[in-house]
Amino acid sequence: MSNTVSRERLLKLVEEPYLSIEGEGIHIGKPMVFIRLAECNLRCGWCDTKYSWSEGVSWRFEELSDVIDKIGCINVSFTGGEPLLQADSLLGMLDRLGRYVTYLNTGGTIWSRQVFEKVDWITCDLKMPSSRMKSNVTVVERLAKAYHEKLQFKIVVTPEDLPHLLNVLNSIPQDIPVTVQPEYYSYGAGGAAELSEWVKAHLQDRANIRVLPQLHRLLWPDRDRKV
Ligand code: SF4
Repeated sequence: MSNTVSRERLLKLVEEPYLSIEGEGIHIGKPMVFIRLAECNLRCGWCDTKYSWSEGVSWRFEELSDVIDKIGCINVSFTGGEPLLQADSLLGMLDRLGRYVTYLNTGGTIWSRQVFEKVDWITCDLKMPSSRMKSNVTVVERLAKAYHEKLQFKIVVTPEDLPHLLNVLNSIPQDIPVTVQPEYYSYGAGGAAELSEWVKAHLQDRANIRVLPQLHRLLWPDRDRKV
């Protein structure tokens, strides 16, 4: 993100804000306005939002606030792409959203204390080997230490990730919620049932873990945007 963008009070988005239902993690099922920010510093192999890698279109804060106000949903999620690539601008936008409950979805590669302080909820997507990408261990550890009361980890897995998943879970404090989700195209529609069997066999002792399907994929299987 350039300083110009920050000074001009702009955020780059790849699609206009839209109202949907949160399809993943501990907030699953909540009505939510999604603000999909442009650009990503990762290239996950199974990424289902590759269109977010583009430069996007600049929105003035005022325009964005107006659209969010018009939609009228209390929950507002900043996702991407990687929203923290526009951390300065995001911070400015969050200042205008004091009456909303705000959510950040990040890949765990960029540290931004001010944004983490400002948002109400943080979701960190931990990257597994099947993604061919890596979250930053230092960022993840700092998040877990500083923001455990509003943090969740979300882990998209394919069958090849399962041995690695056990090691990763051992490094996450038990009180932080973790959701494991079958990667839709690797497992197919029955993935949550298959993954549930594995969790029952290996993770009975973990109190704060959940298996969930990607709800939005089940609700709207034919849509690839605005879900
Ligand atoms: S971090 Fe998210 S948007 Fe970026 S490549 Fe990975 S899945 Fe796609």
